[in-house]
Amino acid sequence: MQDLLTFLDRSPSRYHAVENLRLELEEAGYARLEEGRAWTLAPGGRYYVVRNGSALAAFRVPRREGAGFMISASHSDSPTFRVKEHAELEGPDGYLRLNVEGYGGMLCAPWLDRPLTVAGRVLVSTDGGIEPRLVYVDRDLLLIPNVAIHMNREANTGYKYDPKCDMVPLMGLGAEKGTFRSLAAQAAGCAPEDILGTDLTLCLRQKGLVWGEKGEFLSAPRLDDLQCAWGCFRGFLEAGESAAVPVYALLDNEEVGSLTRQGADGTLLSDVVERVCAALGRDRAAAVANSFMVSADNAHAVHPNHPEYHDATHRPAMNAGLVIKHGVRYATDGAAQAVFTALCRRAGVPVQHFSNRSDLAGGSTLGNISNAHVSVNTVDIGLAQLAMHSCFETAGVRDAGYLVQAMTAFYAASYREEAGRMILD
Ligand code: ZN
Repeated sequence: MQDLLTFLDRSPSRYHAVENLRLELEEAGYARLEEGRAWTLAPGGRYYVVRNGSALAAFRVPRREGAGFMISASHSDSPTFRVKEHAELEGPDGYLRLNVEGYGGMLCAPWLDRPLTVAGRVLVSTDGGIEPRLVYVDRDLLLIPNVAIHMNREANTGYKYDPKCDMVPLMGLGAEKGTFRSLAAQAAGCAPEDILGTDLTLCLRQKGLVWGEKGEFLSAPRLDDLQCAWGCFRGFLEAGESAAVPVYALLDNEEVGSLTRQGADGTLLSDVVERVCAALGRDRAAAVANSFMVSADNAHAVHPNHPEYHDATHRPAMNAGLVIKHGVRYATDGAAQAVFTALCRRAGVPVQHFSNRSDLAGGSTLGNISNAHVSVNTVDIGLAQLAMHSCFETAGVRDAGYLVQAMTAFYAASYREEAGRMILD
């Protein structure tokens, strides 16, 4: 549990999340592959590739021949606010504010009256080329102040947030123009004029914590989807070898539709599958037919104050196991459900089921988007959580452990289809 909290705290942006996992892969003996070079893969080898600093794919080459891919996919991004290129808004009345825009479908209210800062990366001009550098301004730098109830009597009765004014963070009073650029440069260890580009977002300063009468809850920023990203990663590292190629994929931009080169609608996963098959002399279509994917993205637990939003017979609880997600916007069907259920039985992990209340559309995720590029039997799963897309979300303390347990069994297995039967080895 502490390991998950540490990962969340050290990953204030998607770039930090990818870098933290990358460092762990290096430590575990994984070799970095360059997408722009030929790949030579050896049996027993461990590899990873990073795309755009915000997406990552890691895999191992089995010593045994023949089976397909065992893939997990989760996402590195979370709803937040992106700092615009011309970041400083001067005034009114001597205030200095940051010009931001929404990224993803966030709940606005939780962002107000909380200490915030910025995190992400800047692209720095160096003698050796343009270098991405991680940035985390490690101080209470920003806050988005509420309007007093005396001036906005509608604040508690269905207020509509206007992103261009209500969600603008305050940074200073009487501060000089150029202060923000200087702070970013300082955090990146460069001169302000050497910054050629930025990818910075707001983040909450509040650290993750365990709470509740028995310590049964866990609250932190970015649980969706770094909790699943972490659980799948631990399972990937801990699993024993099978005849299959285990693949861990962390993709970006799920919160804005995945349609980028580092997103699930890009080619990272299909390129990896393609190139592994080519390097090992395998038939791609045969390998993909004998593959299975777990698309892991958090699910909705029944809300204590609003249980009516859940379907009558699909009511996931926190600390009660993995949630299989069903519905037209998910990749799960009976076949995928059956394989994953068999796997969880093998792992001794409880499963529960989510289906939208029939008059609600619900959310979507990266399973079916990814399927359009690498068409493998896919199940959508998640961990039950409250307040999805708040900047401080809540989950059960036991569920991430269940995910590790299930994914360890998943990555130690292989999958094949024969005359319509699905077989887990
Ligand atoms: Zn998500």
